[in-house]
Amino acid sequence: MPIGAHVSVKGRLYEAIPRARRIGCECLQIFVGSPRQWRRADYPPEDLAEFRRRRAAAGLDPLVAHAPYLINLASPDPALRRKSTEALVHSLRAMDALAGMAVISHIGSRDAPWPRARAWIARALRTALEESSRAMILLEGSAGGAIGGTFEELREILDAAGGAARLGVCLDTAHLFAAGWDIRTPAGIAAMAEAFDRTIGLRHLRALHLNDSQGRLGSHLDRHANIGAGLIGRAGFTAVFGHPALATLPAYIETPGFARTGPDRRNITILKRLRTLSAPSCV
Ligand SMILES: [Zn+2]
Ligand SMILES: [Zn+2]
Repeated sequence: MPIGAHVSVKGRLYEAIPRARRIGCECLQIFVGSPRQWRRADYPPEDLAEFRRRRAAAGLDPLVAHAPYLINLASPDPALRRKSTEALVHSLRAMDALAGMAVISHIGSRDAPWPRARAWIARALRTALEESSRAMILLEGSAGGAIGGTFEELREILDAAGGAARLGVCLDTAHLFAAGWDIRTPAGIAAMAEAFDRTIGLRHLRALHLNDSQGRLGSHLDRHANIGAGLIGRAGFTAVFGHPALATLPAYIETPGFARTGPDRRNITILKRLRTLSAPSCV
């Protein structure tokens, strides 16, 4: 499992690469533009080329983008749904241009009856895929407050969107825990993965966000903690690395950082150590 982080693209886009290397990343997640603004970032072709060159040299793979937090594919407001779809397309096209694997996106809020929300989400996903060419959309499981808090919901969305090959799922350990999955032990991880496989199919699970949780089990509270400093604890992450179906997935941290400066070397170092302890070949 390559371990990486969400890294800032402040300055020039390609400055994310040395930033990622400094903290020990093996794979990379970025925002395309601003996470909390609709404003688009249009990068000059030479910056895109420099990013590709530096990423190849650094061996950071796979690359993913996190879609802006403003996206709400289930908003009852058609203008907001349209903006959300456009923002998703923008991130997808950037990943196409940068040879990225996927865009990871939150789905939306529960402000409409489920069948209607599901149809809106499916339409937005189909449009976004039609207007981009290669990168996948990975729907991120939620902590339970927003849409995507159960595997059944994710499955229904994938089905409604037509089960396209370019659609998949990203699971966040902090969200799973807050949604009610007790993933602190190998048995808990196995039960979660088994339920995912039964409901959605593990082949659709394409990436993980590794974050410890300040929110309690089943609290639906989405608050990330540093690895080992939250309520999941190191044993839970050791169990993730020890599960054969999860151990091969790219994993990105979005932790607050021990100096509260965002994802840092210490979180990544802890995870790499836990990965060594739990290599599936030793199970
Ligand atoms: Zn997310
Ligand atoms: Zn989160």
